[in-house]
Amino acid sequence: MQPLFLKPVFKERIWGGTALKDEFGYEIPTDHTGECWAISAHPKGPSVIEKGQFAGTTLNNLWKEHPELFANPKEEVFPLLIKLLDANMDLSVQVHPDDMYAKVHENGELGKTECWYIIDCKDDADMIFGHNARSKEELVAQMNEGKWDELLRRVNIKPGDFFYVPSGTIHALCEGTLVLETQQSSDTTYRVYDFDRRDAEGNLRDLHLEKAIDVITFPHLDAKYTPRVNEQAEITITTFVESEFFSVFKWDVRGKAAFPAHEQFLLLSVIKGDGVLLHRDERYELKKGTNFIIPVGFGAFELEGQCELIVSHT
Ligand code: ZN
Repeated sequence: MQPLFLKPVFKERIWGGTALKDEFGYEIPTDHTGECWAISAHPKGPSVIEKGQFAGTTLNNLWKEHPELFANPKEEVFPLLIKLLDANMDLSVQVHPDDMYAKVHENGELGKTECWYIIDCKDDADMIFGHNARSKEELVAQMNEGKWDELLRRVNIKPGDFFYVPSGTIHALCEGTLVLETQQSSDTTYRVYDFDRRDAEGNLRDLHLEKAIDVITFPHLDAKYTPRVNEQAEITITTFVESEFFSVFKWDVRGKAAFPAHEQFLLLSVIKGDGVLLHRDERYELKKGTNFIIPVGFGAFELEGQCELIVSHT
């Protein structure tokens, strides 16, 4: 059995830049590339397996045709989506629905709980995370009066920070932030506020206020997670979150580290450095920007090198 190496899918966004090329060496389509869908089975941008036995197959086909690689899941669709986001400009203020709301209002799409690992950001960077309204009425009143500065909560961020963003949380990444996002496999976003920005043709982007107000959590719940750090001789494993949707870790390898067989399939992205994955007699080169899945049944393996990976499973 082999790891599944995935070809990234890129998305042009008005707020995107060139960090995915400058930092990760990816061949990006334009100078406004906002998103790299690193591990995706979403119909709007499925990953293709790059090499090995399943080369050329999309991840969603593999999910259907080879469920044994994923421990014979009950879910119809691959549950997670891993993205790299280059916020070269502020994103619009937005909120996502939960599974129940999305199922009814978005054609059976999944809800979207997400989380962010801040790979890099400019000095004094912040982001919008939550609101200060005590009730729906207060929120609507402040929105109508344009009191956004009072309404929206801003938090300072620095590289290495982690944020868990449950569905129903108002949020926006701000200018100068490079993030790895682990999320439910969903593309449903309700835009709340876009800073009254106009595009080249002078148009405002659509807002989705009615649905947004339906799904926003009152009062804002500050989902704080204290990372759990397990430091060993040649690896440090940080556990950021273990939620009903996903568990997310950072593996910081400095030398050689052995891993037992896992019962779940693992999603891995190299965010720093390089190394080698050793498995039986095989060696697989890993470098910053490599994204891959370790299927169920792969067995024990080792990682060697100087590298950091963000790892998740359901
Ligand atoms: Zn979001």
